[in-house]
Amino acid sequence: MAKIPCPYCGRLVDRLIEGMCEDCYLERHPLVVLREKRALKCKYCGALFIRGKWVRGKPAELFTKFLSDKGEIRGVIEKVEVEENEEGMIGRVTVRGSPHELMEPRVVTYEVAVEYIYDICISCREMLSRKEAAIVQIRSTPWPLDDLIKKKILNIIEQEIFKLKEKKIGFISNIKQLKNGFDIYTTSANLARHLAYVIHNQLPSHVIETAKVVGVKDGRKIYFMTYSVRILTCKPGDIVKTREGEMQIININNKYINLQDINTKKYMKLTISELLSSDIIFIKQQHFT
Ligand SMILES: [Zn+2]
Ligand SMILES: [Zn+2]
Repeated sequence: MAKIPCPYCGRLVDRLIEGMCEDCYLERHPLVVLREKRALKCKYCGALFIRGKWVRGKPAELFTKFLSDKGEIRGVIEKVEVEENEEGMIGRVTVRGSPHELMEPRVVTYEVAVEYIYDICISCREMLSRKEAAIVQIRSTPWPLDDLIKKKILNIIEQEIFKLKEKKIGFISNIKQLKNGFDIYTTSANLARHLAYVIHNQLPSHVIETAKVVGVKDGRKIYFMTYSVRILTCKPGDIVKTREGEMQIININNKYINLQDINTKKYMKLTISELLSSDIIFIKQQHFT
């Protein structure tokens, strides 16, 4: 049988499909096509907006649903693998099918990228609008938080969100990084209190709670709670001035601080809370080399 050259790639083939070889035809008529590459994703619960509904599920399930809604699959899906990051997901779809009735079915793997556009789904919006809001204010005394402590705090928060994910205790609606600490806004006082005390338990600090009445709902007062976590950032060697005199910090842990009077050499032990609520002046920072 005489071979015919494909006008597109020049390959010699037995027959042409609509004027081209099978490979060129497949290239121009892929088995998987995605027409809309952007997906709305809820930034709180991860739901995707598919066919007018917010859908939750594993990335591979969501990807497949999105693909069948916003794209076309000529054939049967054999395998879906999805890699997800903040910008979106990349799905590797393996499909068995044929782009043309004269062509034998074949197995082809396509890489399809979906870009996330962040939004808030209806149920998360409802949760947020309940307005039983609270804030965790993290501040330091006397020196600014160093990068290591900042990282540690963010890590603690991340771990807690992860642990609490299933418990419906509320959401963090915003985290503001300030020069002197963090403001963490939450949709529930319980969540704010929990975060405040988890941080408190892991760093030398003390917590002050304040409640402000912001309204009344069904005869009950609605409070805006503030949990102020003050973190003690001084180190052994730093000098402080108390009512008793100048003291050097000997050591410090999450509960206690040991001090030594510079003149009398007498030792003194205080809780972190006692130290932070006394009118102490920090006068010298020990620099380590
Ligand atoms: Zn060709
Ligand atoms: Zn949501």
